[in-house]
This record gives sequence, C-alpha cells and structure tokens, in this order.
Amino acid sequence: MASHLKMIISVELVGIDGVSQRCEIAKVDRSLDGARLNNFGLSLEEAKDIQRRLQQELTQFQTDQAAQRDRKCQDCNRRRSVHDSRYRTIHSLFGSCHVRVPRWCRCACGSTARLGTGCVETLLNGRATPELERIQAELGSRLSFREAARVLDIFVPATRPHNHRTVSNRLGKVADQIEKWDVAGPYRISRAGKSPVSVFIDGAYIRAVPGYQSRHFEIAMGRVVAQGRAPRQFAGAPNIATGKHDIVRAAMRAQGWLPGRDVTVFSDGEVGLQSIVLSATRQPVTHILDWFHLSMRLRHIEQALINNLGTYLGQNAASIVNYCRRYWSGQPISSSPAESAANSLVNARMNKKRQMRWTPIGAHRVLQVRAAVADGRLKQAKLDLAA
Ligand SMILES: [Zn+2]
Repeated sequence: MASHLKMIISVELVGIDGVSQRCEIAKVDRSLDGARLNNFGLSLEEAKDIQRRLQQELTQFQTDQAAQRDRKCQDCNRRRSVHDSRYRTIHSLFGSCHVRVPRWCRCACGSTARLGTGCVETLLNGRATPELERIQAELGSRLSFREAARVLDIFVPATRPHNHRTVSNRLGKVADQIEKWDVAGPYRISRAGKSPVSVFIDGAYIRAVPGYQSRHFEIAMGRVVAQGRAPRQFAGAPNIATGKHDIVRAAMRAQGWLPGRDVTVFSDGEVGLQSIVLSATRQPVTHILDWFHLSMRLRHIEQALINNLGTYLGQNAASIVNYCRRYWSGQPISSSPAESAANSLVNARMNKKRQMRWTPIGAHRVLQVRAAVADGRLKQAKLDLAA
C-alpha cells in the first residue's frame, strides 16, 4: 500500500466581475513510513514559504483588480489599452511582494483625465505595510534593534535578513506618529466628573552617546490616573522639540482632564519633576511627597544629620499631608505607580547593565512606543502610518 501523502494548498480568487480563478500556492509531501512528530503539519520554513507565496498572489490580485478599475476612461468610460508595466516592491509582515502594475495609454477620446492609476496609487501608497512597521516598532521598543531584527528573521519570510537600521527607522516613524496623534488629540471628556486627575512622576538617568553635552541625561516618566480609566503611561527625554510637559499634558488630556480641574502630583520631592507638571497644567497643583521617600528618611534618622532631614522636610513642607488619613480612606500616598512605570518603560530596555548609549531623540522615540505598547494603545490606534 502506498504510503505517500500529497497536500496541495491553493487559493481561490474572485474578482469584482465575479469571475473566480484558482491558483496553487504549495505542495506538501509526507510519507507515512517512519513518520515522526516533526513531520506533523507544517514546519516553520514551509509555513513561511506558504505565507510569502500567498501574500504575493493576494497582493498581485488586488493590484490587478485595482488597475482594471483605473483602466476605464473617466470621460467616455471606454477601456484604455496597455502602455507598459512597472514593478513595485511592498514590504509586508508576510514577505516582500513584487507586484506588476500596468500603465494605461491615453484614451482615444483625447480625455485629459489623469493618466495615472488612481486606485493602484492608493493601494500601493508607501514602501512597507503599516502592520509590518507597527510590529518592527514594538519589537524595537522591547529588544535592542539588532535583537529585534533577529527575531523577525526567525518568523517573518524575507529574501534578505532584516536590518537593525530598518527596525530603528520604522520605530522612529511610528514614534513620531504616536506623538503627533497624542499631542494633537482633543480633550477627551471625563466621565468621572469632578474627581481629580493624579500624576505620578519619576525621573531616571540613562547613558548618553559620546559627544553629547553630558555623560547622562534625565528622562521623566510616570502615569496619569483618572477614575474609571486604565492608567496611562508617559515618558519623555530632554532637548527635543516636544517638551516633557507637552507629553504630560497630552497624557492628562487623554485621561479626561480639562484645564481648571484639580491635579494631584506624587513625586519624590525633586523640584524639576514638579515643575514639569506645573508647565503641563499651567495652573496650581496639589503636590504630595511620596510616603516611602519620606519614611526612608525618618527610618534613618539616627544616621542622618538632623539638618539634612530638616532641610528636606522644610523644602517639602507644603507637600506633606496627613498620610494616615489618606491611606485609610483609600487614597494614594506614594509615587510608586511612577516607579512601576519606570520599570516597564526604562529598565528593561535602557538600564545601565545593557551598556547602551542613547541620544535624547533616540531614547524619546523608544519611550513613546514602549508607553503605547504598555497601555495597549499601539494596537488600538488607527495610526495612519502610510501618510
Ligand atoms: Zn475616453
């Protein structure tokens, strides 16, 4: 009895005219003799090859259909004849597609309507699909650019290995889009009425590239928390066009804050961090000194010079509240949510052990994407990345 299996994978394509065509994508051969679990179903390489061929067939079909629609003369409705064809390459998550795009002759009626291919132009706008760009940006925000390129090589069919510079460039593009979207976003009306918005803010130092004005620079990051909404993370680096206060303001706006509404800031008492929030709100805020920073100082009171503690308390007198009463009524007394934002945003990608050095803009872009990934905004956002 024959023990040879043939599995044929084909696709059926139905055009705008209702005509259907079938096209073979791949053949998978298996023998039943001595079959092992690693003959089971598709292997990764087979799956990548099928994805690549399928994507190629689908994109060519879509391009052909769009071109047919463009073929009709806009004035007399007659079909124009073929002038020539050119090729375009579109990079997608399922491989690079080389698509043939026909160009049509000027119509015999002498119509001056656009000779270009309107439908096709819209379809093939850009060099990479937004989905590929988003995945590259997400991986680049979680891993080093080189590691991200290696991970993509494992799963994404491609004729050439992925390049870490491409990952970095795509992340930059996505980050700029996220930021543009955030800063331009309208105030989202708060459902939580008059309850205050809380801003938990913290700072961290990361290593600067050689030649930068200092060896380290400080990034600010944290969370904006409003009742009835998932917390929103933010982070920003210094000396770039979008100030840290713009980033904070955009995050507050997205959380339903409106000018004039109360803001409570939690920090470790560093004046620079408070002033970022003040620039963001352009109004007075309530500042609460982080309970743990304060209690740490109190715990070490024997070792610490009483003067130091006195200075710290004196500088922050206005920010020391009745922690006990707040705690028992369930209100926050600590900036620890900012520190957990720091953990998720900074430590995994930028901490000192990694020996990475950053430009402010490079760090800023990675932070924008990481914050969007952490909040789940990268998937939700209908970012018009092709534009
Ligand atoms: Zn015509």
